[in-house]
Amino acid sequence: MSDHWDVIVVGAGSAGLPTAIRAAQRGARVLQIEADTKIGGTLFLSSGQISAAGTKRQKKLGIEDTAQDHYEDAQRIAEGTINPTMGKLATDNAGATYDWLEDLGYAPFPHMPVAGGAHEPYLTKRYYWAETAAVAILDVLKPVHDGLVAEGKIDLRLATRMTGIVADASGAAVGVTVETANGKSETLHGQNIVVTTGGYAHNADLWKEMTPDIPLRAYTNDFSRGDGLVAARKIGAKVDGADTFLCTFAGVLNDPKDPYSTALGMQFSPQVREPWEIYVNTDGKRFVREDHPSVDHREHALLAQKNQQMFIVFDEGIRQNAPALNPLDTKMREKFGAHPHYSKADTLSGLAQQMGVNAANLEATVKAYNDAVASGADKAFGRIRMFRKIEKGPFYAIHAGGITVVSPAGLNTNERLQVMKADGAPIPNLYAAGEVLGFGRLSGKAFVNGMSLMPALTFGRLLGEKLLQWEGARAAAE
Ligand SMILES: Cc1cc2nc3c(=O)[nH]c(=O)nc-3n(C[C@H](O)[C@H](O)[C@H](O)COP(=O)(O)OP(=O)(O)OC[C@H]3O[C@@H](n4cnc5c(N)ncnc54)[C@H](O)[C@@H]3O)c2cc1C
Repeated sequence: MSDHWDVIVVGAGSAGLPTAIRAAQRGARVLQIEADTKIGGTLFLSSGQISAAGTKRQKKLGIEDTAQDHYEDAQRIAEGTINPTMGKLATDNAGATYDWLEDLGYAPFPHMPVAGGAHEPYLTKRYYWAETAAVAILDVLKPVHDGLVAEGKIDLRLATRMTGIVADASGAAVGVTVETANGKSETLHGQNIVVTTGGYAHNADLWKEMTPDIPLRAYTNDFSRGDGLVAARKIGAKVDGADTFLCTFAGVLNDPKDPYSTALGMQFSPQVREPWEIYVNTDGKRFVREDHPSVDHREHALLAQKNQQMFIVFDEGIRQNAPALNPLDTKMREKFGAHPHYSKADTLSGLAQQMGVNAANLEATVKAYNDAVASGADKAFGRIRMFRKIEKGPFYAIHAGGITVVSPAGLNTNERLQVMKADGAPIPNLYAAGEVLGFGRLSGKAFVNGMSLMPALTFGRLLGEKLLQWEGARAAAE
């Protein structure tokens, strides 16, 4: 294989795989660099919920839907905060991406599509996922990718980390520098450089720089270190979008010092487990209707709290009678009083002291809630389901907080997915797709169903199928 590739794809995750597959199938000489020892990236973690309009499946089921409806519905949920150019590009082409995945063998649950799931529902049934979450997508992409690697059409370099993007004197991207598994540095040249390195939540310093006001508690891929974003920024790319952050409701850290130790299995969705507890902030006051059916409402309420911190407060009666808060954590009971995030005390004021909140406030909050339980009317927040009072010690509190599964800020691109500089001009030969564009660009200030994974797959497909060009440059070089 030549040492000058038509396409260099950095990353082999949700966006990088379709880019490499479609470009190689179109005849490009593709080099793909992957820092991990395997392909797949965030597909191993993601819930794999994707949305698309105008799919063959919708047509078969008689569901009328258009890309324009999808776009408008997504903007409705995000209150108009999705980047219009990127949002249109994603929704206009999502249907074809979905059909491509199904043609490759992707099989969602038989009752799909639906309007909603974990986030705010769409107005139309256009939302899909599968039993094995995003691995179901990897399972159909991997055999095609493996075949192209075996045929020599994709030169895949695993355990190879891109460390920089090389620009020529005119500012055009002409290659990348990499560090191989055995610590060797190399410079590799290509006609098109595509950055699909994902988010940056696994880089605590970069997170702090990008989103200084947002405490880091993340459940993300270890390789989401922002390498592509940093490398592109070094050669002049504009980075923005940190202001669109929305936390996920909510998480408890297993290790308070480790922002990546989020406990899996905590039940916060009232649709899955109705809360028996109350949620209070660091002032010891309730801040949200705990059983509010809109996760968007609860997430924005948590976002407004200091450090997005909250406590789940309950008593012995609730502990004994309520369904498990975390069915996966069979040893939770032993943590109370022994783990810094699990407090237990005989009195509410003792509990407040352990939590580090104002005792008078907590006592007043619990009294007001108990009055609401007695009267059946929660005048403060309008909670509907109040199972029992919080009145009998020991009292318990679990320290939780907003978490993130994505990174809000990212690279600017135009409708050809060319990476843009601050002056609005594209950096020649440099393209980007996936979460490196910033989650907020496609989903705005909300979690819009499927609007991170599907755009990543779609933009990768579009780059490989038509946006990247190499024929002219190859002919000139030969
Ligand atoms: C728990 C969880 C649940 C989610 N659920 C959903 C959902 O249901 N729906 C939805 O729309 N979105 C969801 N998301 C978000 C969505 O899955 C991601 O935004 C998307 O998969 C990111 O794709 P990507 O290609 O940008 O990044 P990735 O898939 O992470 O791929 C990036 C690849 O680049 C590699 N890489 C990184 N740096 C380098 C480097 N320097 N050199 C070489 N390679 C490098 C990485 O190893 C990785 O393989 C979820 C995310 C998480 C974490």
